[in-house]
Amino acid sequence: MTLKRDTLAVGYAVTHEYLYVSSVMPDGLLKAKERLKIPGDLQTPDQIVDMIADHVTSSFDDSPSAIGVSVGGHVEHAKGLVRYAPDLAPHGRHWKNVDVSSQLQDRTGLPNYVDNDVNCMVSDLLTTEGLAGVNDLVVIYIAEEGHGLGSALVAGGEIVRGSSGGAGEFGHVTIQPAGARCRCGSRGCLEALLSVETLAREINWGGRHGVSTMAEAASLVEGGVVVAQTAFRRAGRNFGQGLAVLVNLLNPERILVGGPGPYFSEVDWPSANELFQAEFEAAVADYSFSDLQDGCKVDVVQLGPETAASGAARMALSREGV
Ligand SMILES: [Zn+2]
Repeated sequence: MTLKRDTLAVGYAVTHEYLYVSSVMPDGLLKAKERLKIPGDLQTPDQIVDMIADHVTSSFDDSPSAIGVSVGGHVEHAKGLVRYAPDLAPHGRHWKNVDVSSQLQDRTGLPNYVDNDVNCMVSDLLTTEGLAGVNDLVVIYIAEEGHGLGSALVAGGEIVRGSSGGAGEFGHVTIQPAGARCRCGSRGCLEALLSVETLAREINWGGRHGVSTMAEAASLVEGGVVVAQTAFRRAGRNFGQGLAVLVNLLNPERILVGGPGPYFSEVDWPSANELFQAEFEAAVADYSFSDLQDGCKVDVVQLGPETAASGAARMALSREGV
């Protein structure tokens, strides 16, 4: 298909609650962002694809040149296939083997690009974070309440995808074999250790506290409660131990981390953020081989569904050669 060079591409990031939309012009300029609430009874894959198709066909004067779609989970981007997305469609109706690309093509007639959410975020970061020339890079995203920890691995300038698009499931690397049960069925996965459930269990032990959210846990840290400080330190150490595995495997030049909530919010939870960050940086140094860590810069950046939507649009543009 020949594309009009002056038309934008649209990126959609699908989450369990919202559809995030971002439009990007061929020159890379971000055109617009919006967020659409997904009605509680509209969460099957077919319904979400319909929602995207309806939006793209009704919201633009000129038809977009291409569509990008970001989904958290196991996405085989070469086929446009969502193989497994555990966070979408609650009540156990996970997305499994959904051919998003074909469905969107049928509905809109537009070329499309479907990828894992953190892979999409990389595309946006490459544009916005001054990463020109950085060929070996790791991006880690921790979702709301620690429910989801994804990564994107870039080696030699290429995203590492594995044989079926499942590479980078860093959240399910086992850090403590006898640790907390993970939603994937295993134990002691990094994602489980950083989740609000693990923090709350540690802080609430003994019955003196009753936190159930990250914000409540972080508020105790800000108030100087030792057991909460210890929980954030422990989370930071586990995170750093996991990051050191990536440093040893990939020898990255940069690691970019981010996500909503206290782990990365210097403004709202300065003490919790400081404890977590100091501990994970120390753990990276402790567990990295040789001097690999010295050449690796770790930065906290803005990451989230908005980033994924913009990145999906950028991916769609570059893939279509606009
Ligand atoms: Zn797991």
